[in-house]
Amino acid sequence: MEKFELQANEEALARRAKKKPFPKRNKITVVPVYCKGCSLCVDVCPTGTLLLEDDPENKFGVSIKVDAEEYCIGCKMCEDRCPDFAIFVNYEDNENENVKVEEGKQ
Ligand code: SF4
Ligand code: SF4
Repeated sequence: MEKFELQANEEALARRAKKKPFPKRNKITVVPVYCKGCSLCVDVCPTGTLLLEDDPENKFGVSIKVDAEEYCIGCKMCEDRCPDFAIFVNYEDNENENVKVEEGKQ
């Protein structure tokens, strides 16, 4: 990885060190083929959940790794910031609410 990528990881880990695991689990989905390893999501994540990693399968040589999903607070800042629609976050509670709305319509 390049120096700026290693720096992004270092800063993310420093932010994570100040946090605690979140009590609810959120599901983070990365679509590696869309990811260009720009590090915008790593930089914006307040809990250091995401890191960059070498990825020989990716044409840019780098992609995102969900390194500590248990720290994710579900803020979706990564999803909002990604210019390539390569990362999505779902929280269980919202998924359940959606199911209830669907059932109510029937
Ligand atoms: S912001 Fe999107 S394209 Fe950039 S590293 Fe994150 S997931 Fe990949
Ligand atoms: S939803 Fe928020 S806490 Fe979770 S990975 Fe994305 S930016 Fe980080």
